[in-house]
Amino acid sequence: MSGQWIGPDNLLISAMLLNIALVIFGWRRYRELTGEVADRRRAEKQARLLSETDALTGCLNRRTLAAATDQLIAAAAARGEAVAVVMLDLDKFKQVNDGNSHAAGDAILCEAADRLGHNLPDGALLARIGGDEFACVLAFPAARPEQVDTLVEGLIAAVAMPVRFGESEIETTISAGIARRDPGSSDDAQAVLHNADVAMYHAKKRGRNRHCWFDPAMESELKFRRELESGIRKGVGRGEFIPFYQKLVDLESAELTGFEMLARWTSPTLGPISPELFVPVAEEIGFIAQISEQLIRQALIDARNWDPKLTLSVNISPVQLRDPWFAQKLLKLLVEANFPPNRLEIEITESCLLENIGLVRSMITSLQNQGIKVSLDDFGTGYSSLSQLRSLPFDRIKIDRSFVATVLDSPESATIIQSIIALGNGLGLPITAEGIENEEVLARMRELGSFKGQGFFYGYPESAEDTKTELAQLNLLLEGPAQTTAEPAAPHARRA
Ligand code: C2E
Ligand code: MG
Ligand code: MG
Repeated sequence: MSGQWIGPDNLLISAMLLNIALVIFGWRRYRELTGEVADRRRAEKQARLLSETDALTGCLNRRTLAAATDQLIAAAAARGEAVAVVMLDLDKFKQVNDGNSHAAGDAILCEAADRLGHNLPDGALLARIGGDEFACVLAFPAARPEQVDTLVEGLIAAVAMPVRFGESEIETTISAGIARRDPGSSDDAQAVLHNADVAMYHAKKRGRNRHCWFDPAMESELKFRRELESGIRKGVGRGEFIPFYQKLVDLESAELTGFEMLARWTSPTLGPISPELFVPVAEEIGFIAQISEQLIRQALIDARNWDPKLTLSVNISPVQLRDPWFAQKLLKLLVEANFPPNRLEIEITESCLLENIGLVRSMITSLQNQGIKVSLDDFGTGYSSLSQLRSLPFDRIKIDRSFVATVLDSPESATIIQSIIALGNGLGLPITAEGIENEEVLARMRELGSFKGQGFFYGYPESAEDTKTELAQLNLLLEGPAQTTAEPAAPHARRA
């Protein structure tokens, strides 16, 4: 090494400068980068929050509920505890939403979420999993399910308190279905959530504003109900609903006075289904008016060839009576079939009277103005009051078959029939007795008063073809036009 100082060579200087530059610029870049990373983290957190929670209420959403429930199940099982999944659905929320504004609907949902959240124990999950559906998941000691009952009753009561929105107070109720998962069970979150959903559906069906626990029997019931719904939807288009006819007879003279049309449906997959089963479902899924229209259209054609003294009675659902155009629609069917309105009788059940009575009254009047008669069916089973009966201009009342069929064995039935007769006489209303099953019942009814009647004693409901054959034998059939079936009513029927 020489003793002369040799200054740093160029290479070293550039490396140092580069290092200094890197430190200076790198630091700035580092700071920029850290800022960017923080921004991205914030955005990601926000996005995750949005995808994991419900934007309106801040609860968990459907997507995240299952995973969170699985975690809760694992933790509870490790402690030897059971888990309850509570599915909650606001009753008639659609009406609240439609009847007020969507802002009111949103306010109700937020308030419901708030009240549910406040009433849940620490560690419980709360999710909004659909429009008006919430789910709560919580652990409980397996031997103390009553703790869950108490909690859920509290949740129902909390949601039932009126919600103030602007000037008005809105009241909603909630139905709840509960399913439990015991430690050691192989059910995962999806299975328990599904069971709770089935139980919730059951709670709604039993009458709203209540809760019930899942029971495996509910599953098959729900499956049958779904099959019924889809069967009805398909059946309408395929013209599977057909009219049958049951004789109406004057009890004094035994003379045939007409027929009541009764809907019959044989589902290709489920077999014959009673109207008592399919009519309420068709009402709920909004198909009853279409089915009824098809049936009446066909019935008017069938009845056109009957002797003109014979009447035709048809049953009408309360849903149809709510339609302001119902009388017009009926008139159109009568005109199309060229059937005289004074031979048509509409039967409405007492449950119609629970609806808007003013609307029912104006509907009855407008039907009567067209010459159609209106009778009150299944009388004695509902809650119509004497004053309602007086204020509504019915042409006839029909005593429910449950009283007539038991008139011989049950003194209560006999008393009820006697009071209905007195009522009918007082109001000047003729009476029909349904459910005359045998000669003894007929004899007893004839002792009680003079009626029209129907029942298995006179004949079971029969197809149009069998009715026609019988009328031909009685010489009560006219030579009629060739057409025997209605034009297809529904657009899909036309395509079929
Ligand atoms: P409803 O209008 O009271 O009809 C009389 C019911 O009593 C019919 O049952 C008939 O088969 C039955 N019945 C007749 N005689 C006797 C008897 O001697 N003993 C007994 N135990 N029963 C007798 P169905 O056909 O099963 O109809 C049940 C109900 O379904 C009807 O009761 C009516 O409310 C409803 N329904 C039937 N067809 C229609 C329809 O086209 N539209 C609507 N909305 N409802 C309908
Ligand atoms: Mg009837
Ligand atoms: Mg009846």
